[in-house]
Amino acid sequence: MSWLKRERAGIKSKTNKEQRPDVPEGLWTKCEGCGEALFQTVLDENLWTCPKCNFHFRVPARTYLGYVVDPGSFEERFADLEAGDPLEFRDAKMRYPERLKLAQRDTGMKDAALSGVASVGGRPVSLTIMDFFFMGGSMGSVVGEKVARSIEAAISERRALIVVSATGGARMQEGILSLMQMAKTSALLARLQDERLPFISILTDPSTAGVLASYASLGDVILAEPGALVGFAGARVIRQTIGEDLPPGFQRAEFVLEKGFIDRIVHRKQMREEVTRLLEFFWRSTRGFAAAGQASPHAFDPELPAADGRPRPKPASG
Ligand SMILES: [Zn+2]
Repeated sequence: MSWLKRERAGIKSKTNKEQRPDVPEGLWTKCEGCGEALFQTVLDENLWTCPKCNFHFRVPARTYLGYVVDPGSFEERFADLEAGDPLEFRDAKMRYPERLKLAQRDTGMKDAALSGVASVGGRPVSLTIMDFFFMGGSMGSVVGEKVARSIEAAISERRALIVVSATGGARMQEGILSLMQMAKTSALLARLQDERLPFISILTDPSTAGVLASYASLGDVILAEPGALVGFAGARVIRQTIGEDLPPGFQRAEFVLEKGFIDRIVHRKQMREEVTRLLEFFWRSTRGFAAAGQASPHAFDPELPAADGRPRPKPASG
């Protein structure tokens, strides 16, 4: 057992196992932000953020789930979805199904997203949380389908939608099938908007490429964790394309907030409180509009009569 986690593993990249915070790896973890050696229990207490410099470590979807939803309220859905290999894709090292098996073994997940229904601050939500440790959180047909079904569950059960992104973008092993998820999820979000249900998109490090170019940037409110990488094409590609140096902090949450691309940066420790406040706002605004006899821009509360005469689907129990 080593006392310190190696900061740089030579020219070899870190394996999934070394990066996963839920796997015990010695007593100390070196902060990637300030270099401070942090005791494992201190990191747990601080929700895997550095108490010294606020660096936000990447965490698995199941860990993040506990940071956002009300304790004991989560009911997992669509857990059995697994990717096929219709393109019979093979990368430089192995076939896609083998790649999937390895990721499943390392993460205990079937694919790169965790979906279900829960409550946050007592308000009903339908949510999907992406897992960066599963093939870089890449969005293939399974992730796309889970997000799509989360949207459908939000619509049929009058829940708010929450998606937590942690992803490098589309999954190249699924080619066009992966890219199609962008259109599918975006089209369903338009339906969610028609139903006047709120969508809170939470961007963690990283939230990039095809995911950012579809559902992640379509939230009614877009929150990001401090320092999260938020962008479409990578900085190197952009630099080569435009032939110019990029400003410092380019594509970090603070930079895109300044440009108006996101609404707010929220520390992980305040995330549950912030989401609760937003849901409360949407919930109350629905009631306020109803009391004034007007159609609300949001129709989150199933107990209210539809102010605009639209038929209201009955919420499912549970
Ligand atoms: Zn630090």
